[in-house]
Amino acid sequence: MPEIELARRQRLQPAIQALGADAALITSLPNVRYLTGLASSNAALLLPATGATGATGPAAASVLATDSRYEGAARRDAADLELVIERFIEPALARLAAGRRLTRLAFEAQEMTVQRYRDLTAAFPSLELVPLGYAVEQLRMVKDEAEIALLAQACAITSQAVGQVIGSIRPGLTERELATAVERAMADLGAEQPAFETIVASGPNGAIPHHVPSGRPLQAGDLITIDCGARYAGYHADMTRTVALGPLADWQRDIYQLVAAAQQAGIDAAVPGADVGQVDGAARALISQAGHGDHFQHGLGHGVGLEVHEAPIMGYGRTGTLGDRVPITVEPGIYLPGQGGVRIEDTLVVRAAAGTAAPQELLTTTTRELLVL
Ligand code: ZN
Ligand code: ZN
Repeated sequence: MPEIELARRQRLQPAIQALGADAALITSLPNVRYLTGLASSNAALLLPATGATGATGPAAASVLATDSRYEGAARRDAADLELVIERFIEPALARLAAGRRLTRLAFEAQEMTVQRYRDLTAAFPSLELVPLGYAVEQLRMVKDEAEIALLAQACAITSQAVGQVIGSIRPGLTERELATAVERAMADLGAEQPAFETIVASGPNGAIPHHVPSGRPLQAGDLITIDCGARYAGYHADMTRTVALGPLADWQRDIYQLVAAAQQAGIDAAVPGADVGQVDGAARALISQAGHGDHFQHGLGHGVGLEVHEAPIMGYGRTGTLGDRVPITVEPGIYLPGQGGVRIEDTLVVRAAAGTAAPQELLTTTTRELLVL
């Protein structure tokens, strides 16, 4: 839908103007996709600070550069843009900018390597490069309804896949086999890719938040953490469930109930206008009061969208405010070294109040009850 991307480019222009720049050189691939519609491993966008943001005149045209592998997709998905087909996209756009007498270019310093920066400034001494900052990432934080629908589909696939695979968990199945089963189920349900490498952490491995699935066979008495997500049309779901192979010890039930309560407190605190540090604090307080503060060492959650981790990041000391239509994860955990752990994570959308609807729309829906298999 070119008009959606056109509106996004127009929303970015004030940030470029505020820097006194003539144009922005967008090189972060998710940002290029967001602003043009083109999904590519080699693409960049030259976006003028003012004027038409389509291809309506040389001085004020937005120019998309990509290589010949993506030419067909670019003509289909970004038909309103001037197109440059070139293997080396950044020098191509810089040459074009210099030729059009643009002098001050905002660039994505968080993405560009020092080497590429040196190459550009050496080859085009007439261009002055100024950092754009996270302007596009800030725009991406608030999703439109079309994006939320795609994210909801990614989450539906994830929820259904995990629901199916939980039924096949039994002693002797290895972590790796379980992770493979989850990814196969997501693919069968329409995922284009896993959103990230699936985590399955059983027994003592559950104490490692980002454990890589191993050949460890599942055993009676294990807590088993599954953290996974489907990618659908570029949008990333993220969900974690911890289930048990009985019989369970009291400490395992205790930390499960504590994490579940902390997660609900975090979800309840995630309302429009909430400070991200306070949302983190609402969940963390419960865990700390129970004496497990040292066993929850990561942030409470993060934004999801065209990337699996994006703005806003919710953690201790983070700043920022939640708004309407901001999808986030809420994922507290307790990790006891040598023993095991619990994490429960959902993807939800923060919503402005409307009638009786809750300010949080839960997109991942697999049951959060403690399942003892
Ligand atoms: Zn996750
Ligand atoms: Zn996550």
